[in-house]
Amino acid sequence: MTEQLAAPGPAAAAATAPAPLGTPAPGTDPSVDPGADPVGTGVVEVDLDAVASNVAVLAARSGRPVLAVVKADAYGHGLVPVARAAVAGGATWLGVAQLDEALRLREAGVDEPLLCWLLLPDAQLLEAAVRRDVTIGVSDPEHLDALLAAARASGRVADVHVKVDTGLNRNGVRVEDLAPLAARLADAERDGLLAVGGVFSHLAWADAPDHPTVDAQAEAFAEAVDVLRAAGLRPTWRHLANSAATLTRADLHLDLVRPGLAVYGLSPVPDLATSAELGLRPALTLRSRLALTKRVRAGEGVSYGHVWTAPHDTVVGLVPLGYADGLPRAATGHAEVWVGARRAPVVGRICMDQVVVDLGPSAHDRIGDDVVVLGPGDRGEPTAQDWAEAAGTISYEVVARLGARLPRRYVGTGQAVLTDDPGDGLDEAVSP
Ligand SMILES: *Cc1c(COP(=O)(O)O)cnc(C)c1O
Repeated sequence: MTEQLAAPGPAAAAATAPAPLGTPAPGTDPSVDPGADPVGTGVVEVDLDAVASNVAVLAARSGRPVLAVVKADAYGHGLVPVARAAVAGGATWLGVAQLDEALRLREAGVDEPLLCWLLLPDAQLLEAAVRRDVTIGVSDPEHLDALLAAARASGRVADVHVKVDTGLNRNGVRVEDLAPLAARLADAERDGLLAVGGVFSHLAWADAPDHPTVDAQAEAFAEAVDVLRAAGLRPTWRHLANSAATLTRADLHLDLVRPGLAVYGLSPVPDLATSAELGLRPALTLRSRLALTKRVRAGEGVSYGHVWTAPHDTVVGLVPLGYADGLPRAATGHAEVWVGARRAPVVGRICMDQVVVDLGPSAHDRIGDDVVVLGPGDRGEPTAQDWAEAAGTISYEVVARLGARLPRRYVGTGQAVLTDDPGDGLDEAVSP
């Protein structure tokens, strides 16, 4: 695993590049597997052992079954491999937003309990989902109508988790509107069309664990559970905790925790704790290579609009990734990358397919040299959180938007690596 995680050096690069790429940089890890996939212009490398270990940490911390949220292509990490690694790490449920995502998991042979919560009342998709034992989050009487039609058409008992809106005011049925829906669900349960296995809600302010809305939502949730029980329903799985609440609010763990971001090793509470402080390991590394280096003279402007002007003669490098790959253009002027064992600032506007970095006046970097745009951070490279801060956004958005044209490459076997102390265990598993 250590070897697979090492930066693919010139050996890997040389396997595909026709032109001479320069001599190996001093200190380049010679243990790199020359058969490893090339970086090309860029590759998203995902450490499946980190995913599995993070799930194991979340399960150990909460003492609860874990529903790993793998919506949005597993936050950009790759739906199916990540789902498998999460299961290997101990996730007993998976969660997605869209029925398409649920069906893709089933088609890949992922058989675990799987909850999907963002529906259009699309009869065909719902029927396919019910046939494949996808648990459906119901937020509205119209969703229920469509689900009942799907259950009848499929001849299957649909498993339902009622999605309650306790104050986020987004998806979910308002608590005040729950009783009539609960009555209809109870009827349908008696008719053998569905079974209400769970009830869940989502927090608005989980990243501020002491915010008064968190307690208010927890109270509203308890009230919603009472409404369901009064209707004769007996949901086994009550769940409310996303990553932040899983890590900061033990009182909200209930029957099941529902983390997303923390599965990927990113801190859901960056103002309170880093990934490492939470015992989590960021799973994603975005790698590229220098496409070009060149001198620019003091006073020359760089990239569109010349928003950066070289303060002195320097050497810049071209990294062939841009906002089309998901690098936020708003990070212009603030972002850095890791090249030649140091951080180099991104200078000038971030473009569609490329960014320019300042390598410094005495740089000896060469075409083909490895660039880590973002990674776990333990070698000094910028993290998804660093990019988020540079762009004024959240790490969720940085990873989830990494572009479809970037290939995903998986390292590790997807097994949790844990010792008694999760933090140390993770460190040992990944340090070179
Ligand atoms: C995305 C999502 C989660 C996971 O949230 P994180 O903050 O990534 O842990 C959990 N539940 C629902 C309903 C979601 O939409």
